[in-house]
Amino acid sequence: MEDDGWLLESIEKKTGMDREKVLFLVEKKMNEFPSLTKNAAERMIATEMGVLPIRREYKIKDIAEEIKHINLTAIMKRKFEPRTVIVHGRNAKVLRINIEDDTGSIGITIWDENIINKIINESAEGDEISIANAYSRVNKFNNEIELNLGNGSAIAIKKKVDNKPVDSFVAIKDVKDSEKLYRLRGFITRLFSNNVYLVRCDICKKKVDRVCDLHGDKAISKILMISGILDDGLSSIRVSFFDRSARKLLDMSGEEDTIRKINDISYGLIHVEITGSANKFNDNLSINAKDIKPFVYAL
Ligand SMILES: [Zn+2]
Repeated sequence: MEDDGWLLESIEKKTGMDREKVLFLVEKKMNEFPSLTKNAAERMIATEMGVLPIRREYKIKDIAEEIKHINLTAIMKRKFEPRTVIVHGRNAKVLRINIEDDTGSIGITIWDENIINKIINESAEGDEISIANAYSRVNKFNNEIELNLGNGSAIAIKKKVDNKPVDSFVAIKDVKDSEKLYRLRGFITRLFSNNVYLVRCDICKKKVDRVCDLHGDKAISKILMISGILDDGLSSIRVSFFDRSARKLLDMSGEEDTIRKINDISYGLIHVEITGSANKFNDNLSINAKDIKPFVYAL
């Protein structure tokens, strides 16, 4: 039985109803459509209430045995040498890695050859890795819960960012399409509040509406994505905040919900310092913010 408590929680949070009321609606739906499973009924209620019925991102401490469709992001702490084992009389390549997030650590056994090659060739210890559609089970040799990645799973690797300080501020007008990280300062004069979330299938890496045509909701992730304008008084540039940097941006406002935070920051003329890389799209440069913090005048 999969843990779908998060779905009920999301409905409660979105609607302000208590658990009893939500369960009542679920039961009513099941009476209405006797062939629905409880989970499907919950999903229908969630959809009707405007809650995106997608699986949550897991934290390592929440991983129990026998969960399917786990998505998570963590740091790869250790990459072992690949081995060949015999499964059902055939040779199979397996790779073990250990990952860690702020709640704990866990081992992963990888069976999919493409994922194994990707990790061997494109990743290093310390990189951040996002995993879609893993499953958990108890490793019978050491009795510990571990994650497994098979051929329905997917990963994305984010190289460890060198946190070496970028020396000095650059004027926005001097930003060029290049690999380097820029350190910029200015005022956020505008934030756009449409499409605040990017909903994506992590297996095909495509933006989707709610579910993927091929993979359903197995690997759907919802990532915070906010863009706006940074102005340094001489010129301005579009800046995109994605995931962690978007959360840091929103943390600059004490307002409660996302849209109010955006409006607050948008018109608040907050002086910020942004570190990011430049991207060129349709001849327009924009900054992909890796970090944002309030600008502090040195004494
Ligand atoms: Zn897909």
